[in-house]
Amino acid sequence: MNFVFPPAITPSLAITNSCNRFPIRRIICVGRNYEAHAREMGKDPAREAPFFFMKPADTIVETGATLEYPPNTADLHHEIELVVAIGSSCFQIDSSEALKHVYGYAIGIDLTKRDVQNLAKKNAHPWDWSKGFDNSAPCGPIHPVSQVGHIAKGRIYISVNGIVKQDQDVQDLIWSVPEIIAYASRDMHLMAGDLIFTGTPAGVNRLERGDEIEGGIEGLDVLKLTISR
Ligand code: MN
Repeated sequence: MNFVFPPAITPSLAITNSCNRFPIRRIICVGRNYEAHAREMGKDPAREAPFFFMKPADTIVETGATLEYPPNTADLHHEIELVVAIGSSCFQIDSSEALKHVYGYAIGIDLTKRDVQNLAKKNAHPWDWSKGFDNSAPCGPIHPVSQVGHIAKGRIYISVNGIVKQDQDVQDLIWSVPEIIAYASRDMHLMAGDLIFTGTPAGVNRLERGDEIEGGIEGLDVLKLTISR
């Protein structure tokens, strides 16, 4: 059997202290998972179970990249997030079983066309187009659990041109990493290679052409990104 054209290369991420790469299957994202961010988006976080959306796997961009400002938006936002890399399949598991399916952790930015998202919300349309555009998922290298352990606390921040815009602690997640994995596994078989972007703290803000972005989570290598002029 031959394909009519060469199939796409599997998107992947570097793994720290390894020449092997982490193949990406899907990118699952959690919405509004820090209280102060939920409030800044006009929602009461206490009333809402976790909810999910997805980005295509090939929206991944590695640290150090320079990105074009995306088309058809005037309000591109950064959302710094802890990313969980799933290492083995699971389905309808309890949160007490979840962490053994985690291969590692990374720093990601859920780039968002906020104006497009707001219009979609207003019209009760899907969000996808505001979240899954080309290069919308910058992500640092995967740090294996064997090297960094599980990340349940520690500073998470993003700075733009040296000015800190989001600065909180991972322990402020409304739904913890094990709970998120358990919730997502209610509806789908999570598989090795799936990434979960766990939600962003307060302080989401606009990015402009020429911006120099740095994202960090305590214990993980810094993520760097530039928006071209
Ligand atoms: Mn997000």
